[in-house]
Amino acid sequence: KRLACIAACVPKNSRVVDVGCDHAYLAIELIDRGIACTVVASDIVAGPIAAARKNIQNRALQDKIKLVQANGLQGVQKGEVDCVIIAGMGAGVIIDILEAGQEVIEECNILVLQPMVGIELLRKWLASHSWQIEQEYLIEENGIIYEILVSKPASKAVELSLAECYLGKLGKQELFPRYLEQLIKKQEKILAALDKAKCTEQIVQKRKKTARILQILREAYDE
Ligand code: SAM
Repeated sequence: KRLACIAACVPKNSRVVDVGCDHAYLAIELIDRGIACTVVASDIVAGPIAAARKNIQNRALQDKIKLVQANGLQGVQKGEVDCVIIAGMGAGVIIDILEAGQEVIEECNILVLQPMVGIELLRKWLASHSWQIEQEYLIEENGIIYEILVSKPASKAVELSLAECYLGKLGKQELFPRYLEQLIKKQEKILAALDKAKCTEQIVQKRKKTARILQILREAYDE
C-alpha cells in the first residue's frame, strides 16, 4: 500500500530516480504500470543492489531501469531525471541527500518523499529551499501509519511556523485523528522525560518548545 501510494504520486511519463531502491520493487512497479518511462534505481549498499539486479533481470527491465550503487543522488547524470523519490529513511538522511544533490533536484519538477521519522524537519527544509508542499498522504500498513509528501518547486523560500512544520497538509486525511494521537503520545513522553531531567537552560528551552508543540497538536485534535 505504501509503495503503491508513492507510485501513484509520480506523474505519467516521468524520468525517475528512486534513491535507496533496496529490492527495486518500486522501480519495477513504476515501469510495469506505465507511470515512468525510465528509472534510475540507486542504493548505497551492495546487498540491496544485488537483490535489485536479480529482480530487474528476472523482469527483463534492464533497458528501462538503470541500477547504480551510489550515495544519495551522486549516481544521477545531468538531465537524466525529472522526479526524485526517497522513501524509507529518516528525514535527516533525506535532507542530507537533497542538500548534496541540489544540482539534480534543480532540474526536477517533483519530489516524492516518505520519511520514517522527523517529517517536521523535512517540511521546514523544503520550504526554506523554495519547495512547496503540494500534497501529503497518510497510509497504514501492518499497523504503522506512514507519511508521504509530494513537493514541487516554489517561487520563493518561506519560513514555516511551528504549527505548519508539525501539521503540514495532512488535515484532510482520514487517518489524521489517529495519527495525531500518536504524535501527542510521543510528545507527552518527551515532556515527561524533560520534567525529570536536570534543570539547565537548554532543558528549559526544550521543555518550552515541547509544551508548545503539544498545545498545537492538541488544538488540531480538538478541531
Ligand atoms: N526505498 C525502499 C522502501 O521504501 O521500501 C527501501 C527502504 S530501506 C529501509 C532504505 C534503503 O536506503 C536501504 O536499501 C539502504 O541501503 C538505502 N540507503 C540508505 N542511505 C542511503 C544513501 N545515502 N544513499 C542511497 N541509499 C541509501
